[in-house]
Amino acid sequence: DVLADQIAAGEVVERPASVVKELVENAIDANSTQIDILVEQSGLKSIEIVDNGDGIAAEDVSMAFERHATSKITTREDLFKVRSLGFRGEALPSIASVADVILQTSTGNDTGTQIHIKGGKLVDKTLSALRKGTDISVEDLFFNTPARLKYMKSPQTELANITDIVNRLALSYPQIAFTLSHDGRELLRTSGRGNLQQVIAGIYGVQNARKMVKFSAQDVDFNISGYTSLPEFTRASRQYISVLINGRYVKNFQVNKAIIEGYGSKLMVGRYPVAVLNIKMDPLLVDVNVHPAKQEVRISQEKQLQTLISKTIYAVLAKENL
Ligand code: ADP
Ligand code: MG
Repeated sequence: DVLADQIAAGEVVERPASVVKELVENAIDANSTQIDILVEQSGLKSIEIVDNGDGIAAEDVSMAFERHATSKITTREDLFKVRSLGFRGEALPSIASVADVILQTSTGNDTGTQIHIKGGKLVDKTLSALRKGTDISVEDLFFNTPARLKYMKSPQTELANITDIVNRLALSYPQIAFTLSHDGRELLRTSGRGNLQQVIAGIYGVQNARKMVKFSAQDVDFNISGYTSLPEFTRASRQYISVLINGRYVKNFQVNKAIIEGYGSKLMVGRYPVAVLNIKMDPLLVDVNVHPAKQEVRISQEKQLQTLISKTIYAVLAKENL
C-alpha cells in the first residue's frame, strides 16, 4: 500500500540524512566490513550505498520492500533483546515509496537480483551479476512528495546532516571501513582496523585527537569505555557526544548529562565535550522500542549508570591535570 508507505516515510525518512542512516544501518546489520556512501547534490539527486555484507537471497528481495517485513525479528520476545539496528521493517518500503530506488544484491551463493522500484511501484526485477553484498541507489528523493521537498533546508545543511550521521556511525563502528563522498569529492575515509582514536583523528583532525583521553570502568551491571575530550577541546553543541549501547548508536539525555557532569566546573558556559562512550549491558535492561527513529532508549538502573559515567570521567580528567 503506497499511501501507507508514504505516511510511514514521513516518520522514517525526514530528509536525505535519514535515508543515509537507515541504509548504512542495514549494511551494518548485514555484517558488512566495507561501506561506501556516495552522495550527489546533498542526497536529493542521489544516494548510493555499497556494502560487502550478507546480501539478500533472491526469493527474499521483494519481501524486503514490504512493510513490517524484517528478517531481524521473528518472535515477540525478540523485540525485547534486539541487537540489530533495524527491526521494524519500515525503511526500505518507506524510502522506495518516495524515491526511485534500484537495489542490487547477492548472497554470494546464488545469482544476484536487481530490483527497481519507483514511487512504491515495481518497475522491474531481473538477475544481477553483483558480487556478495548489496548496492542500493536512491535517486530523486521526494520526487512525488513536493511538500516534503519544500521542507528541505539549504544544500549545505542537508549535507552537514549527512556528514554528521556518517561520522557518528564511523565512530561507532571503527572495525568497519567507511568512505563518504559528495559530488565526487571524498569527505571521509576510515581504515576499518578498529582503532577508535584513528577514526577520531580522521574526523576531528590529528591535533584534536591528541586532546581526547581514554577511559574505562565497570560495575556489576555496566561496562563503559571510550574517549572524551580535554576541557580545552570543546564544541558549542552536545551533538558531538556519541553514545553506544551494545554497539547501537543511541540518544539518551541522561547519559549525555552524566558525561557533562563528569567535567564538574571545567567547561565554559555553552561549551560541550566531544566524546564517544561505549556502554555494554544486558540488552534486557534497555528498551529501544520507544521511537520509530530508534535512537531514543530507556535504560533501567539509569541513575547507577549515570553515577558510573560521571565518576569515571571526573577521575580521568583529574588525572590528566596532575
Ligand atoms: P529492518 O532493517 O527494520 O529489518 P528495512 O526496511 O530497513 O527493515 O530492511 C528490510 C530487510 O531488508 C531487512 O530486514 C534485511 O533483511 C534486508 N536488507 C536491507 N538492506 C540490506 C543490506 N544492505 N544487506 C542485506 N540485507 C538487507
Ligand atoms: Mg533497516
